[in-house]
Amino acid sequence: MSEAPHLTFDFEKPGMSKGHLVVPKGADCEALSLPVFSLNKGEGPRLLITGGCHGNELEGPIVARRLIEWLPEAQTCGRIIIVPVLNPPALKAFTRNTPIDGLNLNRVFPGRANGSVTERIADAVSRILLPTADTIFDLHSYGPGWEFPLVNTTHPIADPDLMAKTIRMAEAFKLPMTLIWEHPETPGMFDTLAQNQGKVFVCPELGGGEVGAEALAIYEAGVRNGLIALGLIEGKSANLTFRHQKSTQALETRRSSDELYSPARGIFEPRCSILDEVKQGGLIGILHPMESLSALSIDILAPGTSIVCGIRSGSYVEVGEFIALLGRPLNH
Ligand SMILES: [Zn+2]
Repeated sequence: MSEAPHLTFDFEKPGMSKGHLVVPKGADCEALSLPVFSLNKGEGPRLLITGGCHGNELEGPIVARRLIEWLPEAQTCGRIIIVPVLNPPALKAFTRNTPIDGLNLNRVFPGRANGSVTERIADAVSRILLPTADTIFDLHSYGPGWEFPLVNTTHPIADPDLMAKTIRMAEAFKLPMTLIWEHPETPGMFDTLAQNQGKVFVCPELGGGEVGAEALAIYEAGVRNGLIALGLIEGKSANLTFRHQKSTQALETRRSSDELYSPARGIFEPRCSILDEVKQGGLIGILHPMESLSALSIDILAPGTSIVCGIRSGSYVEVGEFIALLGRPLNH
């Protein structure tokens, strides 16, 4: 009988304490020890900050580590638990999914105690970390192969009060974009589990896999804005300029109309950039089939007037691959 997931330290101790979240060993690998930092200043909001759910998204773990440097001094109340890397095997392999079992951690929540390693991580996070918090910042980025703005995302939530609270929290980050994303795969997401428990869960996504100083600065400022909005630190929230755009915009994106997929196999050439407004019928990109002498290139057009939320970088794509995400202003 293997041990149960647990923390190696008392996270309720006042001040900063640290230790590990132990994910028990299973048939496929040894036990994992995830570094966990607890910043406890007593009464107040209870926040969980996680990064590294996907191993090829390095911005979240970097920003989480930066927070540990200045937050203990800046924090005025409440408790913040920071876990820079949720999925160490995926991080080491620089892969989105866990290389050991091929699973996407953000699709297997709440996990299984006797499952494969990704399911055991999800089980440990669900049972040990999630109950410590009312609000969760899960730091993601879009990963290689995409141009994506700095955006705080959430998904449609059935409970209107929680939806409104979540949008308010997401907008408080003041990132260039806040996106309500109707996502096809919400079951098994960390978001969904937390929201089903009535918690506020926001998911900043950053950029397209190039870890750059400017984007990291905006990401960190966004998280700091979120901490100010929660009342965990004092200060004035900052609105950092991104692509000449000073204020944030809230958009929603729907599966049926706003996700564009490749109609053929070939090289996708982007013809617009993130945050561009495109009119109905406007050119998003061109698909160049490469396997036929006669095949004409295919224009990828905007189905309606929209703003480009994300676009695939120039790359070889298969039929049906996701190539662009569009959105429209959120009416709220
Ligand atoms: Zn991610």
